[in-house]
Amino acid sequence: MAQQSSQWGYDTDNGPDHWHKLYPIAKGKNQSPIEINSKDVHYDPSLLPWFVGYDPVGARTIANNGRTCKVVFDDTFDRSVLRSGPLTGIYRLRQLHFHWGSSNDHGSEHIVDGVKYAGELHLVHWNPKYSNYAEALRKYDGVTILGIFLQVGKTPKPEMKRILEEINNIKTKGKEAPFSNFDPSILFPKSWDYWTYHGSFTTPPCEECVTWILLREPIVISPDQVNFSWTLVSLLSWFSPSLKSTSGYFQVQMHLY
Ligand SMILES: [Zn+2]
Repeated sequence: MAQQSSQWGYDTDNGPDHWHKLYPIAKGKNQSPIEINSKDVHYDPSLLPWFVGYDPVGARTIANNGRTCKVVFDDTFDRSVLRSGPLTGIYRLRQLHFHWGSSNDHGSEHIVDGVKYAGELHLVHWNPKYSNYAEALRKYDGVTILGIFLQVGKTPKPEMKRILEEINNIKTKGKEAPFSNFDPSILFPKSWDYWTYHGSFTTPPCEECVTWILLREPIVISPDQVNFSWTLVSLLSWFSPSLKSTSGYFQVQMHLY
């Protein structure tokens, strides 16, 4: 598997259109990302607000795996959790990572009414009713990902500064650095309104085990910060994957605060 997993990417010869050859589920009916068409979104008044309780001491490392940069958290007990919203029970925070494009007008994985954002932050959580992460990946309710769009603007969110600076230290594939005392909820936008649907991971093996909680309000990063991330992008040969499906397959629901 290790050899296989090194063969996918975002280039024309190994991009999303090819993933199904090694990972058949990539052609499944519940594949993410999707386009959210707000006219098709069903407002569900029974959906609840979601909550997090993150322990900053649980942050461990920041790493560049050649496809993204990710921050890893201690998930050996219910230390940092996401709960409620569309979920039953609690989910443990395992890692966060970013998706970027090669220019400001694309980079996000999900698309909203035809609009692509400059990037997308994913916070990956798993359901501890299963014995470990690998088992959770095989279950319908195994994982929840909180997705937050990144938009380029004049008044950047100051809390993004530290994490973008840390990325500077891990510019090449395989680099890893300690990363401690970090509560990712400082990155959240003001509004916690969300869309939710059941889908998949957006990278191979594309397991269909994900309850998505996508925030409607993006967070703002500065043109400088994005220029900086482009550097990383070129080092990673990172491109925005094409959409695998539209919201036609999905019941997208929305919660407003
Ligand atoms: Zn992701």
